[in-house]
Amino acid sequence: MHFLSTLTGCFAQPVDENPTVAMMEAAYAHHGIDARYLNCEVAPAGLAAAVAGARAMGWVGFNLSIPHKIAVIGHLDRLAPSAEVIGAVNCVARDGDALVGHNFDGQGFLTSVREVVDPAGARVAVLGAGGAARAIAVELGLAGAASIDIVSRRPEPGRALAEVISARTRAAGRWVPWQGRWTAPGGLDLLVNATQVGLFPDVDAIPAIDLDSLRAPTVVADVIPNPPTSALVAAARSRGLVTLDGLGMLVNQGALAVQLWTGVDPDRDVMRARLAAIFAAG
Ligand code: NDP
Repeated sequence: MHFLSTLTGCFAQPVDENPTVAMMEAAYAHHGIDARYLNCEVAPAGLAAAVAGARAMGWVGFNLSIPHKIAVIGHLDRLAPSAEVIGAVNCVARDGDALVGHNFDGQGFLTSVREVVDPAGARVAVLGAGGAARAIAVELGLAGAASIDIVSRRPEPGRALAEVISARTRAAGRWVPWQGRWTAPGGLDLLVNATQVGLFPDVDAIPAIDLDSLRAPTVVADVIPNPPTSALVAAARSRGLVTLDGLGMLVNQGALAVQLWTGVDPDRDVMRARLAAIFAAG
């Protein structure tokens, strides 16, 4: 008989409304994995103790959300290559006695993208220059995108991200100031909304872009997981464009974590259905 479960979870503040726990435990239950996933409310002043506690209790890993994705780096033993370039960690996994930081936000996105378009050689535009934009743009660059335009209102984060893309990946990074309505250039392969415009409860909001400038073969992707069909995704679909929703990115980053922590490649449909049901219930 065995009574010691594998321990995993999420450190964030606030964490009460983070539904990832339901998606992860649905995967554990579906595959008969004896593991728990705990949402833990951790203030910035408590992060060091929380990581030390996870280490002492033998957790196999944990996720980080706002505000710990950058601060946690100082408490880890090493970083995976793309997490080092991104400069942020959303998943930690134990490797022997070492805690290793990964960033699966961008890799989860990349998994979704590969289902509809080859990132190698792609011309890409990313709206926003925050944490999600950074993870996505770096992974697209490392996957061989030809060019990545960072479209953002504030110059500093936009320029800094464009420089990282050019310096650390093979893609040509460029900052494009976002003033008024942005117009998509011809020949764009992939447009990514990496801002929070359209996130529940502001569900009718669409980023300030000229929707008529979006034409095939441009694939339109949104990071917004709730609602799964954002107003931007709906508008792109009505124009006949191929779209990707943020729920797929969220599911895929969770699936990568489950795989790393437990060795089981989980059924993504089970995870997606659990989250979709939660968002549908409001
Ligand atoms: P950040 O705060 O780090 O960055 C937000 C970015 O959006 C900034 O560049 C900001 O620009 C820009 N922005 C915000 N409002 C507007 C606006 N009205 N017009 C133009 N630009 C705007 O947030 P994150 O990157 O952490 O998160 C962004 C979104 O990504 C969230 O909605 C989050 O839910 C989602 N996300 C989804 C994940 C998934 O798995 N699906 C994973 C991680 C995040 P400025 O600096 O000018 O304000």
